[in-house]
Amino acid sequence: MIDQVPFYPFAPLFFALAALGFALQMARHLRVFAAVQPSAVTDQPERRLGSSILYAIVQIRMFRDPGPGFMHAAIFWGFVILTVGTANRVTFGLVQAVLAWPVDGWLWRLTVLAQSLLALGVLGGIGYALVRRQILRPARLTLSRDGLKILGLIAAVVLTEVVAEAFRLARYGDPFQQWEIVPWVISRGLTSLDPAILQAVFAVAWWANLAVVCYFLVYLPRSKHLHIATAFFNAALRKLKPRGELPAMDLEAETARFGVKTIQDLGWKDLLDGFTCTECGRCQAACPAWATGKPLNPKTLIMGLREMAVEAEVGVPLVPWIRPAPAAAVGGASAAESGAHGLHRAALEAPIVGHAIPYDAVWDCVTCGACVEACPVLIEHVDKIVGLRRNLVLEESRFPAELTGAFTNLERYGNIWGQPQATRLDWARDLPFDVPTAAQVVAEGGPDAVAELECLYWVGCAASFDDRNRKVARAFVTCLDAAGVRFALLGQEESCTGDPARRMGNEYVFQLLATGNVATLDRYRPRTIVTACPHCFNTIGNEYGQFGGHYEVIHHSAYLARLVEEGRLKPEVGRSGSLTYHDSCYLTRYNGVIEPPRAVLAAVPGMDLREMERRGRQSFCCGAGGGRMWMEETRGTRINAERTRQALETGAEGVATACPFCLVMMRDGLAEAMSDGAPPIQAQDISEVLAASLSADRFSGGRQLPVVQA
Ligand code: SF4
Ligand code: SF4
Repeated sequence: MIDQVPFYPFAPLFFALAALGFALQMARHLRVFAAVQPSAVTDQPERRLGSSILYAIVQIRMFRDPGPGFMHAAIFWGFVILTVGTANRVTFGLVQAVLAWPVDGWLWRLTVLAQSLLALGVLGGIGYALVRRQILRPARLTLSRDGLKILGLIAAVVLTEVVAEAFRLARYGDPFQQWEIVPWVISRGLTSLDPAILQAVFAVAWWANLAVVCYFLVYLPRSKHLHIATAFFNAALRKLKPRGELPAMDLEAETARFGVKTIQDLGWKDLLDGFTCTECGRCQAACPAWATGKPLNPKTLIMGLREMAVEAEVGVPLVPWIRPAPAAAVGGASAAESGAHGLHRAALEAPIVGHAIPYDAVWDCVTCGACVEACPVLIEHVDKIVGLRRNLVLEESRFPAELTGAFTNLERYGNIWGQPQATRLDWARDLPFDVPTAAQVVAEGGPDAVAELECLYWVGCAASFDDRNRKVARAFVTCLDAAGVRFALLGQEESCTGDPARRMGNEYVFQLLATGNVATLDRYRPRTIVTACPHCFNTIGNEYGQFGGHYEVIHHSAYLARLVEEGRLKPEVGRSGSLTYHDSCYLTRYNGVIEPPRAVLAAVPGMDLREMERRGRQSFCCGAGGGRMWMEETRGTRINAERTRQALETGAEGVATACPFCLVMMRDGLAEAMSDGAPPIQAQDISEVLAASLSADRFSGGRQLPVVQA
């Protein structure tokens, strides 16, 4: 090939210059990374490599939506394999020499065959992408000129390569030519042309191909398509801690940062998230706040963070030893006002709230995690939003007015309802069997007596103080009693886990409650903690470890499913009427508990379970998470109304839940939807459904522990 291409020796030089342009621009991005907080992402290297392979190379999440998934895979894989051809050209044929050497040239034969076929795949994928962008225009996509330009550049790379190869084969032939199916077939029709014309077209197409590749390389760092280069690293450096564990915060540290105010308060991995965002809008489409007309859009938050990082680069010289010309003012300050690492101070110090996300939108988030689950490149939105809330609450005391009472109640009474602790066990009044407290068990059996029980029932504030959820607590202990489970509960020693405080940004109150609860639990050392609240389940199981509290925590759905499976509970009374099950975000997406509640329901004779379209990990929030239960919902339509609509769409005659907050939200949604005189549809906890199917002689009645004096 060296003899066939005029000025060939300049090709590697041009490519090297383009690669230098790419590297210098990336180095400028990295200067912003150096100016923000460190991110701890080096643990568990095997899992990290596995993440990269699964999510960035196989692109497993893309195939949830098969059409765009295959389109993207065709373009990505085609692009990768075409890069092998580019690498071969700029290394004087070195790649071909290496691959053609072993096993009689088969590796090179397969490579050129794959290049040829995938070239068709790329062009097909680009055609499909253009139809989506120009005709179908799905609402979630950002239709930018950048996107069209990148598609055009990729098409140009493929077309110039195919034309160059077709004319080269027609002019010179090649020992591997039959394997280059597409160019070879085209070349068969060109052989009658004058050799000089063949050579001229080949040379022009060859250099055009290299020019497009070089331009692409220089343009990439400024494009959203930088994810081609960053997705692999973003997947590798993902959060490996439980998704439901919010970052720890040392409130005592001298250099403590109270949440996230500016991009300097973010970790560099958060900025990598921004540079990896493909603007696909899957997070936006999954977001219940956005779907119900609220200003929160997780996609624009991530894009906004990237824009703020790029703004911080204004005035930073591309080549470090060349002084920049005065740049345009950003945020009211000139580029001459440089901050850390010579970056643009105004952009570094600009508050994220108001720039990348509106103030109201920060409070619209229900922390449901649907965005994180939907993102194909594993971007974490929720931790960033809670980081912003932390700063607003702890540093600026700026939060919705209705949270003032919530914070005060949590701090003063240990529950958000503001009820005296003495009433925590009122729900257990008049039960026909014993419901012992841990203190009573220890008083009777000694300090290890609680550890010897099968479980400690963590009731949670909702089941302790909310009238509707008190019935759930009664149903659950009825099931425990029917199965003969030896259990206790904390009674007045139990406080709110702190989940709402933490997710509303009040880390101070959260830590106050968490440390108190850890001290209580450590005193009793329960073998297993069972709770019917997914928020308590998540916080005790995933977050108390930050305070030294490590416990086995089981959600009541899994515990009941196990009791049924072991034959300790025998649902016998049949049920008429269909049910649909609403998945709680903190149970399914955050903790992967998807099948147990369904198993409990399926065990009830006659159960007709109808699934909603959005279920399991793709569930749609009820609207109560992230402390939204205690905030007014004044923007857009109500999230619980939308979820109720989805539930009613199944035609089910009842809704089952496994979360106290979902239960209240679905009950209210159903009441509103049925207010036009339609027959009432009930929302029930799975434990209520199960308890109703137990036969009347279910109570064990044999235990000697004292009845709780509520
Ligand atoms: S956590 Fe839920 S509500 Fe919040 S941005 Fe993500 S999808 Fe939207
Ligand atoms: S954050 Fe993820 S899901 Fe959302 S637009 Fe960016 S890449 Fe797509």
